[in-house]
Amino acid sequence: DSELYQRFAKIMTWSREAKRMKVRTNADTPHDAAVARAFGAQGIGLCRTEHMFFEGDRILAVREMILASDTEGRKKALAKLLPMQREDFEGLFTAMDGLPVNIRLLDPPLHEFLPQDEAGQREMAEVLGVDLGTVERRVTQLHEFNPMMGHRGCRLGITFPEIIRMQVRAITEAALNVAAKGIKAVPEIMVPLIGTVRELIYTKTEMLDEIAQVNRERGTQFACPIGTMIEIPRAALTSDKIAVEAEFFSFGTNDLTQMGFGFSRDDAGTFLPEYVGKKILEDDPFQSLDQEGIGELVRISCEKGRAARPGIKLGVCGEHGGDPRSVTFFHHVGLDYVSCSPYRVPIATLAAAQAALG
Ligand code: PEP
Ligand code: MG
Repeated sequence: DSELYQRFAKIMTWSREAKRMKVRTNADTPHDAAVARAFGAQGIGLCRTEHMFFEGDRILAVREMILASDTEGRKKALAKLLPMQREDFEGLFTAMDGLPVNIRLLDPPLHEFLPQDEAGQREMAEVLGVDLGTVERRVTQLHEFNPMMGHRGCRLGITFPEIIRMQVRAITEAALNVAAKGIKAVPEIMVPLIGTVRELIYTKTEMLDEIAQVNRERGTQFACPIGTMIEIPRAALTSDKIAVEAEFFSFGTNDLTQMGFGFSRDDAGTFLPEYVGKKILEDDPFQSLDQEGIGELVRISCEKGRAARPGIKLGVCGEHGGDPRSVTFFHHVGLDYVSCSPYRVPIATLAAAQAALG
């Protein structure tokens, strides 16, 4: 009832005042962004752009891009995606007017984008104007036994830099377009799955070049922070080098847990419940951060990041960003924000306040 709601609202207001960390949300649609904002989210901490490409025409254009035989073919397919992607970002900037929107460059497990069955491959042969055998060969060429450790994240952008350029152009143009309507876009661009600083340098060069190109075309001076996910143990351990090139870190604790433990995220249900039952592990480390090991990687990374770039912005956007015990840990290592799914924003807010008061 409304009295109960009033009390809840009061506690949430106190919590927002008491906490030190910001609470952002993981959202890829204006609807989710609006829901999270109503719950008090102070920005988007992770927009997974790969989620934008699975529907209808889009998946066809994505497949066309990946299966194309050369750069020109890829560019042709990306030109179809650009206006859709620009519209996606305009929607997010509008829903988050005035608040930061952290957009992550494409990070798909590549196999989810490939046509696996014959009907799908036939369809692509038609789209590309080639025979079925050509599509089959290309799919075989791109096949991976372990896609989650394969051609994804920044690796995809390094092999196909046209993708980075399309996305960065869409972000830049969308920010400029909404600004013309009086909406304040505050984008941040994030590179996924960095393992070495050279990947970041390569990706950034492409990004900055594309932004400069849009600025030349439009006579504008758009600029935005560029940073990286820290989700590979090697990246965590070399954070001092990476921080030289990154304006912010966002901890991807899902992958950090996967790669730190060597537990597959997608198969965690097979034996982890037994592990918890037999007290080998206290909790499912994908739900509640393993503070002793994975948390130590986060702590080292924060320390090295700050030493190399004082004031570097630090956040987390893995599932743990909405888990109260993990949120307490993130408060103590000094993160600037946590980011979680829209419906976990209130609980993350309460946990962040409790950590600050405790
Ligand atoms: C992560 O790995 O924690 C993360 C936020 O990225 P994703 O879940 O999309 O891999
Ligand atoms: Mg990840």
